[in-house]
Amino acid sequence: MRKISILGATGSIGTQALDVLRKDRENFQLVGVSANSNSEKLLKIVEEFKPSYAVLTEREAYLKFKGYFKNKNRNFKILFGTEGLNIIASLPEIDMTVTSVMGMSGLVPTIKAIEAGKDIALANKETLVVGGKLVTKLAEENNVKLIPVDSEHSAIFQCLRGNKHSDAERLLVTASGGPFRGKSKEELLNVTVQQALKHPSWHMGEKITIDSATLMNKGLEVIEAHWLFDLPYEKIKVVVHPESIVHSMVEYKDGSVIAQLASTDMRLPIQYALNYPKRGKAVVDRLDFYSLKKLTFEKPDMNTFRSLKLAYEAGKIGGTMPAILNCANEEAVQLFLSNKIKFLDISNIVEECMNKFSPKDNFELKDLLYIEIKIKEYVKTKFGK
Ligand code: NDP
Ligand code: MG
Repeated sequence: MRKISILGATGSIGTQALDVLRKDRENFQLVGVSANSNSEKLLKIVEEFKPSYAVLTEREAYLKFKGYFKNKNRNFKILFGTEGLNIIASLPEIDMTVTSVMGMSGLVPTIKAIEAGKDIALANKETLVVGGKLVTKLAEENNVKLIPVDSEHSAIFQCLRGNKHSDAERLLVTASGGPFRGKSKEELLNVTVQQALKHPSWHMGEKITIDSATLMNKGLEVIEAHWLFDLPYEKIKVVVHPESIVHSMVEYKDGSVIAQLASTDMRLPIQYALNYPKRGKAVVDRLDFYSLKKLTFEKPDMNTFRSLKLAYEAGKIGGTMPAILNCANEEAVQLFLSNKIKFLDISNIVEECMNKFSPKDNFELKDLLYIEIKIKEYVKTKFGK
């Protein structure tokens, strides 16, 4: 029986992780769950799974949630804020923490979980983007496994199994291309939030959906892959694959390319991470090769989708530059979602921040938290009017 906490249980990944657990009750026990503000959804989760801890990170939602249990007996704890997240991420009774909160809010709780020796099912890619060096070192020191949930990284992780890591020559990270694949800069000038939120193959949270439209998501994934699989950026290539069936590939020194294919359903990489090194019974539809008409591949257009290029640059510069890129992007995406800036402004803002703020080569957690405040404040003040 594996005991787990899910940080961000009410989100897209959290909901699908719960579905995986629902189908495999005898192997998993849910001990801790969190939401930011969606107290109604968290209440349903608590009623169904009966965890020992529930956390809300937004004050009003926390008070509302506590209100549900006024004058009622309850046999679980309700905690508040980042402190609450840190507690459920590192409980002595759990084996694994699923990190499926949004953005940089995942960084500190993931570090706490690693320090407590918990294996991580890592969905929150921003944690590795901003703190890759710190987090991977800490995981090694604490003998903690970082098991990717992101479909591309799960694919690479699976393609590397059974082979010598040093024989891997290139990682081929696939990308759907998002809703604006093939469009020119001019065509992207006036695209709306609604258009950007219409992803052709995946249903995800809003932030990552916008990142998929700008290709920043792929950029963040390149940096994530660099830290997870310890290969230089020159050996990590992005391949656009609109069908989203090949989830990524590894090319070996003899020219063999090993790919992982499956239907477009995040429950598989989630299930794989939760069960690793075992495999569970399929919770997703099986591929039918007779009905799959064709699989296509193309080169990404990094001139139109500049965010991908900027992410490669930030990764190669290293130090705190990926944190600067990530924080500028997180704030810019929020401004786009609230109709304060245009679509193409997102990458312009990221570039401006990368030019304006100097990165530090060596850094600690406090430097990353300072960057988060400073960059987000700068972007909000300058562009959020
Ligand atoms: P969602 O927006 O759907 O869910 C985010 C979760 O985090 C929710 O539970 C939300 O609570 C909570 N949350 C939001 N803001 C905060 C905050 N400031 N502090 C603490 N908790 C917060 O996101 P996704 O599930 O799509 O993505 C989660 C992570 O997984 C991201 O890092 C993303 O990049 C990664 N990922 C997602 C994939 C997907 O298919 N969705 C694929 C690969 C990676 P509430 O519901 O109350 O708002
Ligand atoms: Mg992905």
